[in-house]
Amino acid sequence: PFFKEYIHKPLLKKEALRAKLNANENPYGPSSKALEAFKGAAELGNRYAWRELFDLIEKIAHKEGVAPENIMMGPGSSDLLEKIGIVLFLNGGNVVSADPSYMSLIRVAEATGATWKGVPLKDDWSHDLAGMEKAINSDTKLVYICNPNNPTGSITDSKKLLDFCSRVSEKVPIFIDEAYLEFLPKQDQQSMVSLIKEGKNVIIARTFSKIHGMAGLRIGYIVAQPDTLDQVQKITRGGMGISYPTIYAASASMDDAEFLAMSYHKNTEAKEFVYNSLDKMGKTYVKSSTSFILFPIEMEGKSFLKKMSDQGVGVRSFEIMNQNWCRVSMGTLEEMKIFINTLQKVIG
Ligand code: PLP
Repeated sequence: PFFKEYIHKPLLKKEALRAKLNANENPYGPSSKALEAFKGAAELGNRYAWRELFDLIEKIAHKEGVAPENIMMGPGSSDLLEKIGIVLFLNGGNVVSADPSYMSLIRVAEATGATWKGVPLKDDWSHDLAGMEKAINSDTKLVYICNPNNPTGSITDSKKLLDFCSRVSEKVPIFIDEAYLEFLPKQDQQSMVSLIKEGKNVIIARTFSKIHGMAGLRIGYIVAQPDTLDQVQKITRGGMGISYPTIYAASASMDDAEFLAMSYHKNTEAKEFVYNSLDKMGKTYVKSSTSFILFPIEMEGKSFLKKMSDQGVGVRSFEIMNQNWCRVSMGTLEEMKIFINTLQKVIG
C-alpha cells in the first residue's frame, strides 16, 4: 500500500475537544424534523420494525427510481460494506480499488481471505480507471470505487465512471461508495444507480451519516441486483441492526429539504474558509468534493496529531506516497477558525 493512516489514540476515548474534526461528521444534524420523529417513535421500541423498514425501503426505492427488491438497509453503510466484504470473499479472490481509498470493505475482505490490489490514484487525484481495469484478473471478485473518494476528497469524472462501470461490470461486480455524493453541487450529483435499471452488476452504497447528519443514529443502504442481495441475505440478515426510531428519523430527514440544503451550504462555506486560510498560509490542498479537506503537512503524522489534540483539535493524519497529510472534517465556522488558529501555532 502507498498509504498509512495514523489515529491518535486519546481521540478514541471520551475527551473534550474544542473542535472535533476527525470523523467526517456533520455538525448540524440530525435535522429537527428527524429528531422529532425519532422521539415520537421511541415508545414503539418494544416492537421489531420490519413493516416500518419496508415502508422506508419503498420510499427510498421511489427516490432512487428502482424496485424495493433492489434495496438492502443496514445500521450505517459500514454494515453493508462489511457484509459484501465477507460474502463475496468466502472463497478468497482479490478486490481492486484505488490506493488510497476508504478501507472498510477491503479490510474485512482481507480478513475473510481476499487479497487487495491497490491502484494509485492519478496525478489529479481521480481514479486510474484504465489501470484498475488492467489490474482485474480471473481471481477478481469485486472492484471497489469510492466516489468522491475518502481520504482525498477528490472526484472522478462521472461520465468516465459510468462508462467504466457499464462495461467492466460485465466481467466483475463493481461497488460504488457514494457516501459523500450530496456534497457536490446538485447538477454534478451523478449517482451510478441508473445502471441498476439497465441490469448491470453494480452495488451502490448511500448513507444517512453525512449530509443527513445522522452518523450516531446508524442507517444506510445499498442498491444492487436482487441476486446480489439474496447472496448476502443467505449468510447475514439485512436490516436487522436498525433501531425503530432511527427508521422514522431517516424517513423524516429525507423530507427535510431545508435542512439538507442548509447542510450543503454550511459545508461549502466552511470549505471556502479553509481554502482561503490555507492560501494565506501559503499551503496547498486537494480540492474537495466532500465534507473534509486533505492537505500536505511537513511534520510526522503522530506528533502532528498529538500537538493538535493537546490544543483540543481532533483531525486525522495519513502518510501517502512518503508525504504526511492532514485530513480535516468540516465543522461549524467557529470550529474551523479554532482549527486554523491551532494549525498556525502547530505548523506555522
Ligand atoms: N463510506 C465512506 C467513504 C465513508 O467515509 C464512511 C464513513 O466515514 C462510510 C462509508 C461509513 O459510514 P456509515 O457506516 O456511517 O454509513
